[in-house]
Amino acid sequence: MDIKTIIEKEIKLGYHDSAVFGGFSVFLSNWAQEQQLTDIRNLAQQYGGASLLQRPQLLEKIIQDIPAAAQRQPLPEKQHQAAEVPAASTLNIPLVNLPHIGAKKAELFRKLNISTTGDLLEFYPRDYRDRRTITKIQDAPIGAQISIRGSVISSEIQRTRGKLTILRCYLRDETGIIPAIWFNQPFLQKRFYTGRELIVFGKVERRFSRIEMIVEDYQLAEDADCAAAGIVPVYSSCEGINQKTIRSAVSAAWRMCGNGVELADIVPQQLLDQRQLLPRREAIRKIHFPKQPEDIIQAHRSLSYEEFLTIQLAILSNKPSQQLQAVRPQQLRSDQEILTAFTSILPYSLTNAQTKVIKEIYQDMNAAQPMMRLVQGDVGSGKTAVAAAAIAKCCLNGRQAAMMAPTELLASQHYHNLAPLLEQLGLRTALLTSSTTSQEKRQILAQMADGSVHLAVGTHALIQEGVVFADLGLAITDEQHRFGVVQRARLRGNHSADTLIMTATPIPRTLAMTIYADMRLSIIDELPPGRQPVQTFAVDYSYEQRIHAFIAKEVAAGHQAFIVCPLIEDSEALDLASATAYYQRLKEEVFPQLQIGLLHGKMKPAEKAQVMSEFQQGIINILVSTTVVEVGIDIPNASVMLIRDAERFGLAQLHQLRGRIGRGQTQSYCILIHNAQSKIAKERMEIICQSADGFALAEADLRLRGPGEFFGKRQHGLPSLKIADIFADQDLLEAAHRDALEILEGHIQPTAALCQAVADKTALLS
Ligand code: ADP
Ligand code: MG
Repeated sequence: MDIKTIIEKEIKLGYHDSAVFGGFSVFLSNWAQEQQLTDIRNLAQQYGGASLLQRPQLLEKIIQDIPAAAQRQPLPEKQHQAAEVPAASTLNIPLVNLPHIGAKKAELFRKLNISTTGDLLEFYPRDYRDRRTITKIQDAPIGAQISIRGSVISSEIQRTRGKLTILRCYLRDETGIIPAIWFNQPFLQKRFYTGRELIVFGKVERRFSRIEMIVEDYQLAEDADCAAAGIVPVYSSCEGINQKTIRSAVSAAWRMCGNGVELADIVPQQLLDQRQLLPRREAIRKIHFPKQPEDIIQAHRSLSYEEFLTIQLAILSNKPSQQLQAVRPQQLRSDQEILTAFTSILPYSLTNAQTKVIKEIYQDMNAAQPMMRLVQGDVGSGKTAVAAAAIAKCCLNGRQAAMMAPTELLASQHYHNLAPLLEQLGLRTALLTSSTTSQEKRQILAQMADGSVHLAVGTHALIQEGVVFADLGLAITDEQHRFGVVQRARLRGNHSADTLIMTATPIPRTLAMTIYADMRLSIIDELPPGRQPVQTFAVDYSYEQRIHAFIAKEVAAGHQAFIVCPLIEDSEALDLASATAYYQRLKEEVFPQLQIGLLHGKMKPAEKAQVMSEFQQGIINILVSTTVVEVGIDIPNASVMLIRDAERFGLAQLHQLRGRIGRGQTQSYCILIHNAQSKIAKERMEIICQSADGFALAEADLRLRGPGEFFGKRQHGLPSLKIADIFADQDLLEAAHRDALEILEGHIQPTAALCQAVADKTALLS
């Protein structure tokens, strides 16, 4: 990162002095001081105290004053390409300076994101082997992994026809003799001279009639470090670097940095005491060189907490600054009045959960700071009505609202649902998509700018491309879990409008806390009455014909069916090819007498709208699609959802898809055809058949597949975790969340190392 990137970030985040945790202006002024740019330092000092209106000009001036050379200078923060920079501290020593590491090894380590001693120390083990017990040779149990200590009595090398070399080294202790075997490392024979003491770790096997140990790891008894005995760390690795190399590099790094003298505490002392955590130096020592299991537990806890705290602060400091005041004009109508008017136009009465969430939203909309709220509700829980209530409050008080959806299809569905409803309240709604003609578009833009349109519905382009609103008071984003922290901040931009995000992905609470730490959470935990639960079946491909027959029967009874073809790798083109081929087959061979439709992401918006409208009207009986229908589409007459290669989907996604049906009066069926081979894949299929509870499914999925997979490659906005585990360490996460708020509110002083760590993390989130 250079200074320009940070300045750009400050601009993107809306001049809230928030691009760097601890204050952008403080950071900039320190930087200027180091660069000896006095003018800039002075300007930076003014920046913090300047109003939101003055800041853009100030920043403009600062940018002009930065000499081009300084712009490109790396910041005085942690250096990732440390090899080119003189080591400023013992934590910045390039790996090539370590014993046994040359340029080639160093390059391999770089693949693991390790270039310095400091990086090595923060490269935490992923597991441990407990090899504290040394087994006597005569007691060596066959099949077990054990450690043996013995002295070399002789060794031999054997070459097999398969080009394997076998080094067989006879070890003796006071109880017996055992041959220890190394494959393809003949060069070790020199080291293992007669009389030398070894500790070997490996598996004892019976081969032919004799008992041998296949060595996985060893150490010379005289070597104190890089222990193969004791409790031994296991690191994630990559090709070309083995465990021994990493372990000896970590020990060397630890020695070279004076046993970690420079490892400053990131977590403030007060919190270390309060949460009973180890000082950082001790935690890092114990995580790499534990003497007993308790060391690992303590160190893991301390470093996980540190990681959570840093991430929480990085996310929370992307929040609009506390000084940011919402614009709250005189209320024209009371909340009660608005709610009464709103419920009187709804064709049904709100569920208790909907009413509760609307109240939470209204409270936020009356608060001094802009609202930042996430509404979570299972598919079909009625989020649209909740959004409409927020829109009603905003617009009946004379301001404008924007409603954004991830796809044009969904945007147009929202428009068709909301426009007639809001019209009854005297409010005007406009739809802006890429299929809006340029003439219409010009007209709508003009009406948004003069305030005669109250609600604008569209995709995210709505507020990203500088569309001008006369007075935007509320920005709603639907199905927004695909967006990261920084994108949320960008969405918010520098307007002080209220923000409401609606998601159907039932994010487990702990996960929500991590990725939505900057938002408040409302949950619609109740479905509207009278829903028939969907019956779900998982079958393999041998059932395909029977399923086709079943669909034919449902269609004959007047219903419709969705068929979803999966995501194949990350390629839209491949998805499309498979969906298209299957569509052709259905049309020509399987259901020649029925109307089959095809919907995919590469179609023009107008074509998509055409197909959707034909499906909605019942002209199309069976709709084959790629996952574009995943979100939101409402077809009450559809009674079958068939999902092909279902094992490729996340459970949350399958649940979403299933939520497309079961919206009418008749019994609906979700059929999952799958190729699940692994135990986990089969277990996932079973879980989805048995549970209709989105939250339970999400938790199960998270447990079985991990958070990255949970959202799918295309959708996560998650910071990756080095050591902490959002499931196993839930209590720590909650503690870190509360402590982060304390720090932000100024009750606890952050350490300098914490500010730096948060800045690094924020850069990763961007
Ligand atoms: P989602 O939360 O998935 O976005 P929708 O807002 O699309 O759900 O609502 C799903 C369906 O439920 C819609 O047809 C809507 O009209 C209906 N609905 C919403 N709230 C209620 C309610 N309180 N009682 C009855 N039906 C409702
Ligand atoms: Mg919806």
